[in-house]
Amino acid sequence: MKSSDLFARAKALMPGGVSSPVRAIKPYPFYVERAAGSHLTTVDGADLIDCCLGYGPLILGHAHPDVREAIERQLEKGWLYGTPTPLELDLAGMITGDHPGVDMVRFVSSGSEATMAAIRLARGYTGKQDIVKVEGGFHGAHDAVLVKAGSGATTLGVPDSAGVLADLVAHTRQVPYNDPEALETLLAENDDVAAFILEPIMGNIGPILPDDGYLADVREITAAHDVLLILDEVITGYRVGIGGAEVLYGIKPDLATFGKIIGGGLPIGAFGGRREIMELVAPAGPVYQAGTFSGNPASLAAGYAALRYLHEHPEVYRRLDEATRAIGEVAADAGRGTFVRMGSLFKHFFRSEPPRDYREVKECDTEAFSRFWKAMLEAGVFLPPSQFETNFLSAAHTESDINQITDAYGSCLFA
Ligand code: PLP
Repeated sequence: MKSSDLFARAKALMPGGVSSPVRAIKPYPFYVERAAGSHLTTVDGADLIDCCLGYGPLILGHAHPDVREAIERQLEKGWLYGTPTPLELDLAGMITGDHPGVDMVRFVSSGSEATMAAIRLARGYTGKQDIVKVEGGFHGAHDAVLVKAGSGATTLGVPDSAGVLADLVAHTRQVPYNDPEALETLLAENDDVAAFILEPIMGNIGPILPDDGYLADVREITAAHDVLLILDEVITGYRVGIGGAEVLYGIKPDLATFGKIIGGGLPIGAFGGRREIMELVAPAGPVYQAGTFSGNPASLAAGYAALRYLHEHPEVYRRLDEATRAIGEVAADAGRGTFVRMGSLFKHFFRSEPPRDYREVKECDTEAFSRFWKAMLEAGVFLPPSQFETNFLSAAHTESDINQITDAYGSCLFA
């Protein structure tokens, strides 16, 4: 069956025909038959270079042999026990070893669960009620953070969801990204803030990069006001390097959240941080958190294999950095909009200057982006279908893939 027919059926079975809003590409999304390395094959027979990569987890590309082997080995032994497994120690040891600010972790099943639990923990630890997030920052689809959220919420123009209690989001305050003064002012006026949660590099309306010194300022300001700093590394974790943004920018959070890459492409999330805070999580302490699928053995096996590969092949990060640099040079020569990149994260913004925050990114010409996106798809390159989502590269992208992406950029920017 073709994508158009599948979508017609799907709309009767699932709201909007999809399992997550960003997938609702107009007039209908393409359906994938299979994926390998850097390529997707659609049910309509198209072969596409994938720069979406499941929205980030697949830094090694699709069906990487090491990850597949680890999953297959685990499947032979069963895939859900409801008991602890030795695999938890492997992955927890890897994550704590790579992140100086993370002494302990708790595994959950998604990035949303991780940020939800980290916020609860911050409130439990500090005894304070409010949280501060960044305008346009996305931390998953749970109530406390669905306020001026990025990702699908920005694309759809509904940053505030129906069904979220006004009383609850009254406790979620906002500051612009890259504006340490706004954070200082807010924290000086409000002594009931438990935590400031931010994506160190804004990934769900970006990438938007931190100004020099911004993250260090954030660390200093939060510490001065006894406010916990939660670094949401769901995208940046193992994406910008081993140790994520924490190590890249030398910023030690109180709590950090992870997802995506640490599961090697299977569902996962984790939150972690200072031992003294983490010891409050149940059953060690009074902050409740639990989940049937938490620490799922297949996800842990896949994640551990992926992270081990990255440890053994650190050149992956350099290669990916060079690849986005090459794409960026062609994009810059085209003389339209701005290309922003950080390692394997990249994006073309249809705006004259790189956006520094949510307000600026909303000035982008989204119609020009739509034409560019469609032209890229026709040229065989699948980019996330929104001006407000980051593009990703993987270790599986070959030189010929990069050349094809670069050529397509050159011809599609004026579509
Ligand atoms: N935090 C960030 C920075 C994210 O990008 C996302 C998802 O894109 C989440 C949290 C939520 O993760 P999940 O979709 O696994 O629930």
